[in-house]
Amino acid sequence: MVIFNTLSREKETFKPIRKTWVGLYTCGPTVYNYAHIGNLRTYIFEDILERTLVWNGYDVRRVMNITDVGHLTSDADAGEDKIQREAEKEKRSVWDVAQFYTEAFLEDFKKLNIKIPKRLDPATKFIKEQIKLIERLFERGLAYETSKAIYFNVPKFKNYTKLSKQPLNEKIVAARNEVISDPEKRHPADFVLWFKLIDRFKNHIMRWSSPWGMGFPGWHIECSAISTSRLGQPFDIHTGGVDHINVHHTNEIAQSEGAIGKPLARYWMHAEFLIINEARMGKSEGNFITLSKIKEKDINPLAYRYFTLTAHYRSKLNFTWEALQAAQRAFEKLSEEISLLKRNLKRVSAKQNTETYLKRFTKAINDDLNTPQVLAILWETVKSSKLSPNNKLKLILIYDQILGLNLKNVKKPPIIPQNIIKLAEQRELLRANKQFIQSDALRKQINKLGYVVKDTATGSTISKKL
Ligand code: AMP
Ligand code: ZN
Repeated sequence: MVIFNTLSREKETFKPIRKTWVGLYTCGPTVYNYAHIGNLRTYIFEDILERTLVWNGYDVRRVMNITDVGHLTSDADAGEDKIQREAEKEKRSVWDVAQFYTEAFLEDFKKLNIKIPKRLDPATKFIKEQIKLIERLFERGLAYETSKAIYFNVPKFKNYTKLSKQPLNEKIVAARNEVISDPEKRHPADFVLWFKLIDRFKNHIMRWSSPWGMGFPGWHIECSAISTSRLGQPFDIHTGGVDHINVHHTNEIAQSEGAIGKPLARYWMHAEFLIINEARMGKSEGNFITLSKIKEKDINPLAYRYFTLTAHYRSKLNFTWEALQAAQRAFEKLSEEISLLKRNLKRVSAKQNTETYLKRFTKAINDDLNTPQVLAILWETVKSSKLSPNNKLKLILIYDQILGLNLKNVKKPPIIPQNIIKLAEQRELLRANKQFIQSDALRKQINKLGYVVKDTATGSTISKKL
């Protein structure tokens, strides 16, 4: 299996650290709002990655954090805590807000057929581990205290830019604004490990005691603490969206490698953005679409999953309603084809060579998760004039172990009785002659008999009434 490692900016052959299991850490949501479909694109990519590892025979230990404290409105330590701000807006407790949006997040996972990670760890359950890590950073001379916070001392850590490859002076420009908020901060690139309850955080609700007084953790330290508590250090693969390369993951590496003196993870994989009107879709950008919005428009969430798989995870994907509707049509067509296959299954499966299809499928998915290629192979299988329905179905369900489109649940179409087909044909003729009153009467008659006719661009379809 070959994957693109952001650390080397190259495709590398995946070699697990241990023989028995693979550690996969996937940065999770900040639960102050619904996930948008951009976030969900990244989670679908991570699901495909997990399924591909399983396909290759690995036992995957997957961990995802839930950020329920410490993520400020700017990734670079400025602004307010996102959850507390939302709680004030909604007049609910911070704990309620975190719980409510965690549940909403899990609902989205179910609708998109994303496997829920075995470990789903809220940051607030790992406070002790985070404090321990900060203490180690003090021991190693990589942390310092001001009257407002505890900081990571960036210039003291040699490999700070190894993931981002972004020169430190560029980062300094980006970070300059918030230096004003703490004159004791030594270097503009230093970032917060622990916030004290001072100034803007005087009334911060989530708070814990620590060797530096009451306070709460900075955003990045939770992932360092949770990932290594669960998976050891180093572990195999760490993932997230591309926005995490320069700040969040760079800081995670600094904290964990600074504290333990070993690499944090071997491979770092990042999903590109879902964009809309040429801008990144984002909660802060205010241009975001949720899965409920998609459902309101009668689009199946799995059609959204299909849509994301049409692009490689390392390419930007442009969202338009038209493109999503086209994906929905393709997904419906696929379901129709599968339901027909189910009707035509033979009692005895023909002996045919399905190996070449399987080889091509494995090669495509093992080539850095080439899902567009896998979809092409899927359609080729569906359309093949050589394969029997049994073998087609068998192959499709194997591909679906990775694609996760829930194709095994596509129903066999009911057999439509001849008298209904006749009535529908008569109706079709009347419609073609623009005799709409008569054609409508026939539609009603068909409906009374328990069937529904629907007119589509390519002709009408009949189905059993639900
Ligand atoms: P957040 O809840 O903001 O921490 O984001 C959750 C995940 O979604 C992270 O891995 C982000 O990198 C990712 N993400 C954020 N915006 C987008 C987007 N427009 N397209 C794809 N992934 C995104
Ligand atoms: Zn993280």
